[in-house]
Amino acid sequence: MHQLLENDKKQFKAILHDAVKVAEEYLERQNSLPPGRFVKDIVLEDLPLKGENALKTIQYFKQHYAPYITNSAGPRYFGFVTGGSTPAAVAGDWLVSAFDQNACGSNDTIAPQVERQTIHYFKQLFGLDDAYFGSFVTGATVSNQVGLTLGRQWVGEQLGIDFSLEGVYGVVPVKVVSATPHSSVLKSMAVLGMGKNTLVKIDTLPDREAIDILALEKYLQSVNSPVIVVANAGTVNTVDFDDLEAIGKLKAKYNFWLHVDAAFGGFAALSEKYAHLMQGINHADSITIDAHKWLNVPYDAAMQFTRHKKLQLKVFQNSAAYLGDPEQSPDYFHYTPENSRRWRALPSWFTIKAYGKEGHREIVERNSASAYSLGEKIKHSEDFKLLAPVRMNVVCFTLKKTTSFDEVRAFLNAVRDDGRVFFTPTLYKGTPAIRAAISNWQTTEADIQLAFDVLKEVLHAKKKITVST
Ligand SMILES: *Cc1c(COP(=O)(O)O)cnc(C)c1O
Repeated sequence: MHQLLENDKKQFKAILHDAVKVAEEYLERQNSLPPGRFVKDIVLEDLPLKGENALKTIQYFKQHYAPYITNSAGPRYFGFVTGGSTPAAVAGDWLVSAFDQNACGSNDTIAPQVERQTIHYFKQLFGLDDAYFGSFVTGATVSNQVGLTLGRQWVGEQLGIDFSLEGVYGVVPVKVVSATPHSSVLKSMAVLGMGKNTLVKIDTLPDREAIDILALEKYLQSVNSPVIVVANAGTVNTVDFDDLEAIGKLKAKYNFWLHVDAAFGGFAALSEKYAHLMQGINHADSITIDAHKWLNVPYDAAMQFTRHKKLQLKVFQNSAAYLGDPEQSPDYFHYTPENSRRWRALPSWFTIKAYGKEGHREIVERNSASAYSLGEKIKHSEDFKLLAPVRMNVVCFTLKKTTSFDEVRAFLNAVRDDGRVFFTPTLYKGTPAIRAAISNWQTTEADIQLAFDVLKEVLHAKKKITVST
């Protein structure tokens, strides 16, 4: 064994201890560190020929990199839909690394069994019926990709072709139909050879991001080959929900695969106040729900669910003699894009075990109440304008006097550099806008008041803001 490895093996405990200290120093300052920052490209160093050992590497990391992380896990990062990590989830994640299990098998370690247990919890949490099979993947993008892959395979079967064997060559385009899909749906289409330009966009209801059911039905009437409908349960700009019950009813009349992207909107199911938005979810053939967003577990983790486990096997079956027969050992690598797999379910298991449905419902309800409260402040403000009603945890608004996207971005850069809150820009129905997504377990009403005060302060100090293009 190399001398450095041999020594480090002896001081493994001291190494972990030092890593904990670095984490502790961050966590102690999580409420005050700037939630967003701009980091310039670093100057790249040459490959180290001789190493230094783990303790020195921790010190190097602490000095050179740790000070420049973004505090996105803190309570006032409102960009994208990010979430932080609950204490239990962090503990679970550390143990994933310490145990270093390959969660691909089914019976050769407890790891995949814990994944089964975790999926079982989440099926109950989201109100999914027993028929669903689920697994963990890296994010909602990959989960959407799995769902569309299954939809494509299903369309092939309807046409008498096994795409997993024959490929998609020379076959009529597999149509994906949606109203306000997340960009990852388009990315999945590109990856799957279905082409982004072939997306069939259905109209939304007036002043909404939800699909117009009548327009969808009209489209379904007009096609004579099976399609994939992507329903959106929680759009990124305004957390709007397609009417899943109504789309489900259409399934009785028309032949389509229903994929539901409920990346963060799925958490509506946790709260009596919002659960009706997820009503009809059991009509879905496949479902995407993210864990690293509103569940508040560390990156990366999402879930994918399907009612068609056999179809999933057809696409993802990993045929090699040493990998065994999927009938005998239903190993995850026969069902997921990955082969070797991180024990990705464990942090999610930890947080659900530690806080239960009620603990996580409290996060969903508190975050949504915060969004509503910020929305009220904006509605009554002289400087800002609400662009859509606050539906759950996202506030979509803009500057009252705005002309361009660059202006909004310059304003948000100034807010970021102020160092107290962080927001990201968006386009809402063509209007340059600001999006506040509240999804962190630590965010309180005081953070919301501060966020609103900072927005006003920065705006009124705006002589300093220059638009750079
Ligand atoms: C975030 C998001 C995605 C993509 O999720 P990743 O985990 O970043 O891959 C897909 N759909 C919706 C609705 C989202 O909010």
